[in-house]
Amino acid sequence: MQNLTPRQREILKLVADKGILSVEEIQQALGISQATTYREFQTLVRLGLAAKAPGGIRQIEVPSSHCIQCRKEINFRVAFFIEQVDGKQASACCPHCGFMFLSRRTDINTVLATDFFYGTRLNARQAVYVLGSNVNLCCHPSVLSFSSRVDAQRFALGFGGEVMDFVGAQNKVDKLMAL
Ligand SMILES: [Zn+2]
Ligand SMILES: [Zn+2]
Repeated sequence: MQNLTPRQREILKLVADKGILSVEEIQQALGISQATTYREFQTLVRLGLAAKAPGGIRQIEVPSSHCIQCRKEINFRVAFFIEQVDGKQASACCPHCGFMFLSRRTDINTVLATDFFYGTRLNARQAVYVLGSNVNLCCHPSVLSFSSRVDAQRFALGFGGEVMDFVGAQNKVDKLMAL
């Protein structure tokens, strides 16, 4: 399980805000050296959480504005981004639809979820999910993703729902939708 450092989260948050960031901007914003900035960029790109841009990094491009599962318009607060082994990309409106799509497929490369608090992208398989909370932004039952378990637990304390990992949440959604 690869946990992001607070600094990496900070960089992703800046990328989410601005779309694209140069090495110098990151250096200045975080007060770190150029070498450290490059190292952090490499890590984030390798994890599939950001893409290389000339002299910096940018947000991963969003392939389609409609959900591959239900055709609803993508809600960027909660969206799921899926890359297939053949390089094709798809989006799901929320983790709920993302799970339903993934359960039918075996040809999936990377899957990114969106942190509900910070709007940053994270590896969906390492995200923590809250199922069935009172905050229903998209499909029912609601599924929201978080990069930290502590955040997810705090959220569930206030808004209800069950805290689960990727596999647990996917199985639960499958089961509920099969009823
Ligand atoms: Zn959908
Ligand atoms: Zn949805």
